[in-house]
Amino acid sequence: MARTAFFWDESSFWHSGGNYALTMPVGGLVQPLAAGGLPESPETKRRLKNLMDVTGLMGELDAQSAASASQDDLRRVHPESYLREFKEMSDAGGGELGLRTPFAGGGFELAALSAGLAKGALYSVLEGRARNAYALSRPPGHHCLPDWPNGFCLLSNLGIAIKAARAAGLVGRVAVVDWDVHHGNGTEAIFIDDPETLTVSLHQEHNYPLDTGDANVVGEGKAKGANINLPLPPGAGHVTYLEAMERIVAPALRRFKPDVIVIACGFDASAFDPLGRMMATAETFAEMTRMVMELADDLCDGRLMMAHEGGYSEVHVPFCGHAVLQQMASSTTAAPDPWVDTLKARQPNARVNAAFSEMLRDLEAFHLG
Ligand code: ZN
Repeated sequence: MARTAFFWDESSFWHSGGNYALTMPVGGLVQPLAAGGLPESPETKRRLKNLMDVTGLMGELDAQSAASASQDDLRRVHPESYLREFKEMSDAGGGELGLRTPFAGGGFELAALSAGLAKGALYSVLEGRARNAYALSRPPGHHCLPDWPNGFCLLSNLGIAIKAARAAGLVGRVAVVDWDVHHGNGTEAIFIDDPETLTVSLHQEHNYPLDTGDANVVGEGKAKGANINLPLPPGAGHVTYLEAMERIVAPALRRFKPDVIVIACGFDASAFDPLGRMMATAETFAEMTRMVMELADDLCDGRLMMAHEGGYSEVHVPFCGHAVLQQMASSTTAAPDPWVDTLKARQPNARVNAAFSEMLRDLEAFHLG
C-alpha cells in the first residue's frame, strides 16, 4: 500500500530574509537574533524534520524532493510583471516586495522550489503514488496574492499547485482548509470566484491581515458560498477549534464533495507561538488531522495533501508537526507534546464566547442551511 509522502529539500531551509526584523533592519543597530531577525526562520521547520529523524518517523515516510514550479506553473497564478520584478531583485542580491516579504539573493528560485514541493506533494496524491502527502517547504504561500506578496509569502504555493494539477487534468473540485492562525487571504483572493474550489480559513480574528478574514466574505458570483471564513476569538483552544471543525468545516466539505482535500497547515495556533494568541496543543493538530483524514476517506478515496505554512515556535512546532505526520502515516512512532498537560490545564473555561456562538449560527444558516 502506498505510504505517506514527505516532500522536503534542504535548500528550502536556506531561504533567508536577511538582516530584517519586521519593520527595521537588525544589522548594525541591535544585536542580531540567532534566527537572523525574521520570525519565519528555517529553524521551526528544520527542527520538525530533525525530530522525525530522531524518533524514526522519517524512515516510515516516502521522503523525496521535487522539481521547482515551472514558469508556466507560476504564470497561471502570478502576472508576468510581478514574476519579472521578483526575479530581477532576486538576481541583484535580494530585497523586499509587498509587505513583510524580505528575501536574499536567489529568493526567486527558492520560492519556485517551495511551490514545486507543494505541487509534487499534490501530484503524488492525485496520481495515486502516495496514500497522502505533506510538503515541508519555505517560503510559505497562503498570504501571497497574485501581484502582491505579503506575510513572508512570495508565491502562492497552493494556488500554483492546484492550478497546475487542473491544467494537467488531474483534478476537478478541490477543498482547501487553512488552519494557520492567520487568514489565508492569498488563497481566498485567487479562488474567490471559482466555484470548483472551496476555500475555508480558520484564523484568529484581527490578527493578520488586519483587514481581511471576515465571516461575511463568502465568495463571488457563481462561487458564492465557496469561501468560508471562521474568525476565532483570541485564546481559542482545543475545544473551540474542534467545535469549528465539527460544526462548519466537516459539513461544508461533505456538501462540497471535493476530489481532494488540501490543508494549509500552519502551526501558529500553538499556545507558544510568538505571532498568534491561541491555545492549541499537538493533540489539537492531531485531532484535526484525524478528522480531515476521515472526511477524505468518506469523500475522495483518502486523497489528502498538506502544505506547511506558518508556525514560529522553535520548541513547539516540531511536536505539533510530528503529531500530524504520525496521524497521516497511521504510525505508532510518537513524540508526545511535552507541554500537553500544562496546556490542557490552562484551556479557556468558556467553550466559546457569545459573539463566536452567534457567528457559528450565522455561518451554519448561510453555508449549511
Ligand atoms: Zn500564520
